[in-house]
Amino acid sequence: MRLSRYFLPILKETPKEAEIVSHRLMLRAGMIRQQSAGIYSWLPLGHRVLRKIERIVEEEQARAGAIQMLMPTLQSADLWRESGRYDAYGKEMLRITDRHERDMLYGPTNEEMITDIFRSYVRSYKDLPLNLYHIQWKFRDEVRPRFGVMRGREFLMKDAYSFDLTQDQAVESYNRMFVSYLRTYKRMGLTAIPMKAETGPIGGDLSHEFIVLAETGESEVYCHRDFLDKATPGIDTDFDGDLTPIVRDWTSLYAATEDVVDKAEFEASVPEDKRIVARGIEVGQTFYFGTKYSEPMGAKVATAEGTEEPVHMGSYGIGVSRLLGAIIEASHDDAGIIWPIEVAPFHVGLINMRPGDDLTDPVCEDLYARLEASGIEVLYDDTSKSAGAKFASMDLIGLPFQVVAGPRGLKDGLLEVKDRKTGEKEMLTVDATIARLQAALTL
Ligand code: ATP
Ligand code: MG
Repeated sequence: MRLSRYFLPILKETPKEAEIVSHRLMLRAGMIRQQSAGIYSWLPLGHRVLRKIERIVEEEQARAGAIQMLMPTLQSADLWRESGRYDAYGKEMLRITDRHERDMLYGPTNEEMITDIFRSYVRSYKDLPLNLYHIQWKFRDEVRPRFGVMRGREFLMKDAYSFDLTQDQAVESYNRMFVSYLRTYKRMGLTAIPMKAETGPIGGDLSHEFIVLAETGESEVYCHRDFLDKATPGIDTDFDGDLTPIVRDWTSLYAATEDVVDKAEFEASVPEDKRIVARGIEVGQTFYFGTKYSEPMGAKVATAEGTEEPVHMGSYGIGVSRLLGAIIEASHDDAGIIWPIEVAPFHVGLINMRPGDDLTDPVCEDLYARLEASGIEVLYDDTSKSAGAKFASMDLIGLPFQVVAGPRGLKDGLLEVKDRKTGEKEMLTVDATIARLQAALTL
């Protein structure tokens, strides 16, 4: 992408309304624009990161056997009356009346709708287990939308729903999502710790919140330090096999949010030098809630014995849009964002120090074409801004690598390659630059 033809509205001033670093950096880097309290437009750079996060979520959901679909944002209130949640949900639910005076709502979550879909088509235990998910915008009329995309009113969520005949099978489905979440967050460069959690309006009796430690997090958490260097389940994880040992391993260390913490148990089970009491960001939550929705809504299947049983269900959310904030909170410095490679909006920022110059132009064009041809995404700064402004913008938007083509280096045929994370700089030939980037980006 040529910067001269892109839309990247970088802000020079730090926006006053932004209280935390990720919100500040997202506004300054031209990633999002607030349209109303807690409602954002995703500008091109922000949208690219959002799509990359979605793709990782999709790949990991598929690996764990979940099937993607798409449900609408607007729902009929009648479904929610069946489960009893229409009155129970409170002011967070945005209620709408259509022209025929029918009560509608902008979905804050989709347990009712998916249960309705299930009961309309699935009749037999032979069709289980089933896990259906979508990635769709949700609306919750939060009292205090703040921190940018971290606590929005409209936000993008991945929500999966599992259906099983028995509780034991439902726990297996739960474990698949649990392990898949560990992998999902790790690929985004995050260490998310599964913590015992309250089930809230979704309900149920088995639940974990996946929490990334960060000072600006809204929850207080209590956990064992060893979580920080636990090895994440690998790509070779067999999701059809028994995942109990992995889940047991990840739940054997103490971890709980403030809502459910038992301080005596925390102190008894975690040695003093291993105790973490910190703040964290909830990036996802898993629930097993049995027949809470299937029973009142009549989602039943025939068993092998010829009886009919309500299915056991679970639901599994990931805060897709919140993750951008969480990743930035975890990975930035004074100059700006430092994107982990897997979610970076582009892999490389190529800076032409003298656009229009006979020496720099052909080298940049050649490098740009060759990198793009090998699958490396390049943001090519071919604008005539000052060198200082170009460097500052590249640091701010945080692409993993920067390549600087200036007359001084190019006299000797060399480019400067900078690793955004370490700040390390190397002078390399064009061929060596390509080899270096290909190796680092493992494409
Ligand atoms: P919170 O406690 O932060 O209000 P929640 O527990 O109500 O969230 P869930 O119903 O568990 O949220 O939703 C699944 C995920 O969606 C959460 O783990 C979180 O990452 C994300 N999420 C929830 N509310 C918001 C919001 N207002 N803005 C952005 N993301 C959100
Ligand atoms: Mg939650």
